[in-house]
Amino acid sequence: MAKHFAFVSLAAHGHVNPTLPLVEELVSRGHRVSYATGREQVPAVVRAGATAVEMPWRVELTAMAGRGYTMDNLVKMMTHGADEVTETFADLVAPFRTDPPDCVCFDVMGLPGRALAEKLAVPGVGLAPNMVGNEHFSLQALMWPADFNPADPRLLAIGRQLAEFAAEHGLRLESLRPTDARTRLNLVFVPRGFQIAGDTFGAEFRFLGPALPRRARTGDWQPRSDAPVLLISLGTVFNDRPDLLDVCIEAFANSPWHVVMATGRAARPSCVPDNFEVHQQVPQLAVLRSAAAFVSHTGMGSTMESLQHGVPLVSVPQTPEQALNGRRAAELGLGRAVDTETVTAAVLRRTVDEVAADPAISANLARWRGELRGVDAAGLGADALTDFLAREPHRAPTG
Ligand code: UDP
Repeated sequence: MAKHFAFVSLAAHGHVNPTLPLVEELVSRGHRVSYATGREQVPAVVRAGATAVEMPWRVELTAMAGRGYTMDNLVKMMTHGADEVTETFADLVAPFRTDPPDCVCFDVMGLPGRALAEKLAVPGVGLAPNMVGNEHFSLQALMWPADFNPADPRLLAIGRQLAEFAAEHGLRLESLRPTDARTRLNLVFVPRGFQIAGDTFGAEFRFLGPALPRRARTGDWQPRSDAPVLLISLGTVFNDRPDLLDVCIEAFANSPWHVVMATGRAARPSCVPDNFEVHQQVPQLAVLRSAAAFVSHTGMGSTMESLQHGVPLVSVPQTPEQALNGRRAAELGLGRAVDTETVTAAVLRRTVDEVAADPAISANLARWRGELRGVDAAGLGADALTDFLAREPHRAPTG
């Protein structure tokens, strides 16, 4: 029977993009998807076939990047999350009250989707575009800043704010705690072999791995010559790094590489070498089809897309999570990581040239690419959702 799925993600391409093939698959099977996310993500979810529920959400940008990741920034990020759910929850609930979903699929890092599932008393399913955690591996612990203090009064105040919010809406407080609230089904868009301690996760975690979208991601790109293509992109969030782009220009100017560089929020460099093409954003999937190397911040979305296309990674991470992904890719022989804050043009150039020419990396990538392509991740995800719904009992709605 056709079902109505609510998807609730963060207002971030890195969180929405990995879910789009699953949305496409559900829609192609005759289900409906209503997708709540930020304004910038709306066009892609609509192309995937979902009805968009546009929310005034934004990701807090400053918190975790570079050396400035401190307790103060963590508090700022958490305050933003608590304020956002408090201020926008009624607007999120309203459209789903009139058109109730059978299930809420929510990004495991966000609060609003968990709260929506609880409020509507429908089964909740976690969506994890990043690595997940259990008693053997904690991504969260890795992401605490060096000066983390669990007794900081500001954290306690955020806890009180969320308790009031939960009471006001008749929600159990546990349902708002990402790490405590164990969801009976979690769809992970990372393969088990890439997940750290992957073998220790039970049946409630389905490691689908990444899938390629059919129509949600637009944009074409063709190489202009036979020169090997190097993609440089720092993703969509922590991408205001003109200093790093300058290092890249110095490293690859007048080299044999044809460089496709995304500037993100950084201003266009004043002097662009002839072998560079520079855009604010690039159609990343299309460029990766022709790329021979990828200098990436190694957000998990970009990391997976690189593996899907068999492109070696050079990680220039800016957050603890990105650094973890880059280290993991290096450990699995799929690329190398450099220290973003100290890397020189000479080191970057040498590292890119070496990973692109390394036969062991190339063999590992070919194997990973073949394995990822052999799995119908979106189909498995859609099967997991419908099987889960066939088993889950309904509860009475709250409030
Ligand atoms: N992306 C893109 N063009 C760009 C930069 C990013 O299409 O110029 C896409 C990229 O393909 C990926 C997502 O945006 O799907 C970024 O996600 P990721 O997890 O790599 O990083 P984040 O942006 O969340 O830091």
